[in-house]
Amino acid sequence: MVQEFHKPCIGIIGGGPAGCFCAYQLQNICDVTVFEMTSPLKTLLVTGGGRCNLAHAEYNFKELAKFYPRGEKFLYSIFSKFSTADTLEVFRSIGVETYTQEDNRIFPTTNSAADVRAKLLAAISAVTIKKEKALRVNPLDGKLEVVTVLGSYEFDSVIVATGGHAGYNIAKYLGHNIIEPRPALVGLKTDKIFHSGVVLKNVKTKIGKQVLQDDILFTHNGISGPLAFKISSLMAREKFPYTVTLDITGDVDLQKMFNENPHKTLKNLVGELVPKSFASEICPSGDIKCSQVSAKIREELMKNLRSLELKVLSTAGGGEVVTCGGVDLKEINPKTMESKLVPHLYFCGEVLDIDGFCGGFNLQNCWSTAFVATEGIKHDLHRSTS
Ligand SMILES: Cc1cc2nc3c(=O)[nH]c(=O)nc-3n(C[C@H](O)[C@H](O)[C@H](O)COP(=O)(O)OP(=O)(O)OC[C@H]3O[C@@H](n4cnc5c(N)ncnc54)[C@H](O)[C@@H]3O)c2cc1C
Repeated sequence: MVQEFHKPCIGIIGGGPAGCFCAYQLQNICDVTVFEMTSPLKTLLVTGGGRCNLAHAEYNFKELAKFYPRGEKFLYSIFSKFSTADTLEVFRSIGVETYTQEDNRIFPTTNSAADVRAKLLAAISAVTIKKEKALRVNPLDGKLEVVTVLGSYEFDSVIVATGGHAGYNIAKYLGHNIIEPRPALVGLKTDKIFHSGVVLKNVKTKIGKQVLQDDILFTHNGISGPLAFKISSLMAREKFPYTVTLDITGDVDLQKMFNENPHKTLKNLVGELVPKSFASEICPSGDIKCSQVSAKIREELMKNLRSLELKVLSTAGGGEVVTCGGVDLKEINPKTMESKLVPHLYFCGEVLDIDGFCGGFNLQNCWSTAFVATEGIKHDLHRSTS
């Protein structure tokens, strides 16, 4: 008698980067159905300002994990299995060549997120994509049932890859704890407002034990740019308002500069250190000559340049906007991405309480956790057939 062989059925909830990467890894050995309530990989289009910063050129997995304020330790074993080099290899295999920018961000050579999306979609063209919102997952005699707005479907395993916010109800329904979501990698509203559009280079600040150094952009209601995004990320769990202290110039000998330029106005001299419009704003008595600067004015200026205090009032939106928070990592096995509470249920991508800085780290989290989830499923299938 010839035994009929049924391919295992896998349901993936969410057709974002994480879900589609899972579909790519599983399509040859399983019947894969992706439930996507909008359009698959739509979220990829806006990444990297439309260029898709799909990874970061850090090839040591422990170093790579350091770029994640949430999830660093959890990611060790995940990145040890699938990291930057593996990502690039997979993308190359589907026709996406990449290059590394000076700041180590990796982009497709086409500089087009739309192109990456098209290539990944072409690579999973055999997969069934259902435009349906999944409502919940029910455990059912060793299988899992996905209930959507249009019907219900039975699977051997289900992967939840719903991104920030949208899929928390599905996880909660199955008993998972959700770490309270907060926005990260966003601009911040501050009490002091400076000339909008001014960029200061290599500004330093200290958050806890971490010294950060990057560019900052002043906006109409606060701060934005790489340094502000990092602050928003590291302080994502902090209550507003909180104070940040900026070291704008580093160590400068102001008195020596005054002595060497006695006839210059204070604001013109400071305008050699920082953009002129910003110099006018932070110089007390900016029109006086350097030779007339009192100790009190010098101290005040020094404070503004070396330890400018800003009270951060709230987030201001904009930026990359990832969710800090999500499915509690304590309830997920990092070796397989399987839920510790519900057998055959897997999680990957931003739905988890993992988030990284700007620079390709959040997509890397998707590719790596997706890969490990699919390996977990393969292992699970192997176990149940042997
Ligand atoms: C403006 C912007 C720029 C960014 N740029 C970068 C960048 O250059 N590099 C980088 O590394 N990261 C970047 N990110 C972050 C990155 O885009 C996300 O971390 C990543 O998209 C998360 O992927 P995901 O698949 O986990 O979730 P998502 O991309 O959110 O995808 C989840 C999908 O699931 C669907 N879904 C949710 N719930 C359900 C449901 N119940 N039923 C059916 N479907 C459902 C959603 O419609 C969505 O399509 C950027 C983010 C933003 C907002």
